[in-house]
Amino acid sequence: MRVEVRAEKYDLDLTLPPSFVSSLYVRVGPRHWIKKFGFLKGLRLMQANSLLIAEVDGHVNEEVFKEEVLLESGLWYYPDVSLVKNGKIKKVVDRLYEAYGGARLSISPRDFNYILTSVVLSKRTSYGRFVLMWCSRIFEKLDGDLEEIAHSDLRFAGTSYQLDQLKLTLRDFLSRGLDKQVAKLSPSALRRELLRCWGIGPKVADALILFTFRSPKTIPCDTHLKTMVKRLGLYEEFVEPVKQLCIKYACNSAEADELGLDVCPNSSRCLRALLIRDLGDLAGWFQTVCYIHGGSYCKPSKPSCEKCLLSDLCRYRS
Ligand code: SF4
Ligand code: SF4
Repeated sequence: MRVEVRAEKYDLDLTLPPSFVSSLYVRVGPRHWIKKFGFLKGLRLMQANSLLIAEVDGHVNEEVFKEEVLLESGLWYYPDVSLVKNGKIKKVVDRLYEAYGGARLSISPRDFNYILTSVVLSKRTSYGRFVLMWCSRIFEKLDGDLEEIAHSDLRFAGTSYQLDQLKLTLRDFLSRGLDKQVAKLSPSALRRELLRCWGIGPKVADALILFTFRSPKTIPCDTHLKTMVKRLGLYEEFVEPVKQLCIKYACNSAEADELGLDVCPNSSRCLRALLIRDLGDLAGWFQTVCYIHGGSYCKPSKPSCEKCLLSDLCRYRS
């Protein structure tokens, strides 16, 4: 089966690498990726100018195929930067859009188990150097079977402590029956359930939800995001999300109404709540482009300020 999608201001090579969906793919050439694991294994995504071409062998329901291509290519989402109206954050968002507007949000709800594995493994390590390698070895042997992964000797994949911790987290996740609840819960409700699991903090829960739900407001507060927000001086001061508060409270009144919880006492200074307030549906995309820019320019040590497109807006630089 084959489908072609017109895609203006889009770049497959900017979209897939920052998404945990990339742990299911291999890049075989410029703007050419093949899915090695998960739903629609063998799916080929290729971009030629402003055309995205998707192909897979065998029979697949056409509607399901088209939907999956839009989700995994990221083309279901368009970053509407006009949603941000005022302030320094608008200037930063506009500038990032000029440079990285081709990046979209690649998500795969049907591959939840694989992406859970990949996100949990990514704690305090390099995604490109280690997580992709561990995932490839695990999925090659055990596919996305969480029971198998949780109870297997994973030394065939590596000896790092992240692999031992993955098993503990998956056992807790499974013992709570969350694998059967994922499809029934809203992103906000699932976030709270995930946070009760051993080894899952706000960043892991948010990354998992961002890349497995149509939930662009979700924003994982990772190192690149925190570094750039701080250096640019987007907020005078902020604090990071705190797991125990996230379990008990909601970030804003909309979420409080949905979940029947009180609004968090940290909501006026917590980075996650501030960015959701100021960016809305651009929040997850903003994290994605900060990840791209942070990886190339705004590195935690030795940022390349002289080449940075944000240098005239940056407090750190000045
Ligand atoms: S505002 Fe509170 S509930 Fe929301 S992310 Fe921050 S710490 Fe968690
Ligand atoms: S000017 Fe330097 S510190 Fe500021 S955003 Fe750019 S790379 Fe980061």
